[in-house]
Amino acid sequence: MFKEYSFQVLPYFKKSENNKDIEAIDKKYHGVNGPLNVERFSYVDDNVVMLVNAFNETGLPLVDFNGQQQIGTMTAQTTSANGKRVSTNTAFIKPIRKKRTNLTVRTNARVTKILIERYKKTANGVKYIKNNVWYKVYARKEVILSAGALNSPKILMLSGIGPKDVLEALNIFVIKDLKVGHNLQDHVTTNAMLMSLTNKTSTMIPANQIIDQVKEYYKTRNRNHPLSATGPLQLTAFIRTKFADKDESLPDIQVHFDGRNSKEFYSDPTNYLETNVLPFSYYDSINVRPILLVPESKGYLTLNKTHPVFGQPLIYSRFFTVKKDMDTLVAALKSITELKRTKSFREKGVKFIRNTVSACKPYKWGSYKYFACLFTRYTSTIFHPSGTCKMGPSDDLEAVVNPKLEVYGIKHLRVADASIMPRIVRGNTNAPVIMIGEKISDLIKDRWKDCTD
Ligand SMILES: Cc1cc2nc3c(=O)[nH]c(=O)nc-3n(C[C@H](O)[C@H](O)[C@H](O)COP(=O)(O)OP(=O)(O)OC[C@H]3O[C@@H](n4cnc5c(N)ncnc54)[C@H](O)[C@@H]3O)c2cc1C
Repeated sequence: MFKEYSFQVLPYFKKSENNKDIEAIDKKYHGVNGPLNVERFSYVDDNVVMLVNAFNETGLPLVDFNGQQQIGTMTAQTTSANGKRVSTNTAFIKPIRKKRTNLTVRTNARVTKILIERYKKTANGVKYIKNNVWYKVYARKEVILSAGALNSPKILMLSGIGPKDVLEALNIFVIKDLKVGHNLQDHVTTNAMLMSLTNKTSTMIPANQIIDQVKEYYKTRNRNHPLSATGPLQLTAFIRTKFADKDESLPDIQVHFDGRNSKEFYSDPTNYLETNVLPFSYYDSINVRPILLVPESKGYLTLNKTHPVFGQPLIYSRFFTVKKDMDTLVAALKSITELKRTKSFREKGVKFIRNTVSACKPYKWGSYKYFACLFTRYTSTIFHPSGTCKMGPSDDLEAVVNPKLEVYGIKHLRVADASIMPRIVRGNTNAPVIMIGEKISDLIKDRWKDCTD
């Protein structure tokens, strides 16, 4: 059951949503009039059905985890339309781009600094570079920073808002000493646990046939096609380990499955981005990923010391610095490998590959140490960095923005993106970030409603 406070943000999830699935009948939790299309892929392969059935056999129910109950499994509702991903650009910007004369989009422009009047501590614009030419653009009302959880803190620090010691070490004038870049969280997992499929259940086809399928997909716009879906990644499950919070409605692990080519895996697993150069739809094995939803380990990021402006920020994830995080993931992996006992797995001949991977050879497959080794030596995230410009009350020493997303101590400057999450959400981050966008748009309108300028 959702807590009472969730209802403060639920209307903003629903505002953007245009849900086309059967779950849309649940109007308490779903919106149907928003610009963002939400639907399942029409193409579902047999392995997805097998995985759902296997979870059901273990007692995990089929649920709408975007509704009242999160613990359970289903094929995910995605921000897609007709088997094609819908980005925020497609949903929100494209429809108004030529209609709204007060909107200008500058592409390939890199903001390097918020312009702040030092003594009034008021933001009034940004500095950016495009095609090697520097520009300044000024704001009459306020500046909204939405560069994501890695770049928003970087831009704040370059502008003089951040930890005093970091800024002073780089000779950046300190306008406001705040814990920018701290509280970094992500959804951590491993690349190194694989299930093998049989000849009958593998969807792998030779590379030249994949090219033919891609051509067919584009020619016919056939949306009931493997390429209109993401293979087993369209299924997900939310489960609890014995380390989860007392509140039994809350999961501490999300389980993802993504299709792999096992040849690329044996002995030394590659990472997600290296492997998935071919579409997700063609695979002969499945990577199982228990994802830690409630990490207690927190990391931080800071400016690149040699190239603060154009260099990437230095990221210290500090994963597994709290042992409970590792205990939770190992417990989850152990329980997931028990799926091998289900009728669904046995009938299809699906097995966990028990070859020990190269970095973990000293340990016995299935032991705590072996599984812990998979998480530390083949670490992956699912690209959900959050928390680096934390929202919090004024007495929270780590808070960077207040509940209206205004930067503490600076006038006319807000941050609105994944960086403001005080705690990473228990699920994928895209929809929550869109919710943050919907919420701040109301806050901004409310702030300036009496202004005629
Ligand atoms: C490969 C991948 C797959 C993902 N899959 C999913 C998924 O399936 N489901 C899900 O829920 N989430 C997914 N996510 C996560 C989701 O995309 C993010 O949580 C979400 O986009 C974060 O939104 P944001 O606004 O905080 O940051 P972003 O989406 O990163 O937006 C920040 C924007 O700021 C721009 N920017 C950055 N720095 C500057 C600068 N200096 N000057 C000008 N512009 C700048 C960037 O170009 C970008 O457009 C995925 C992420 C990745 C990387």
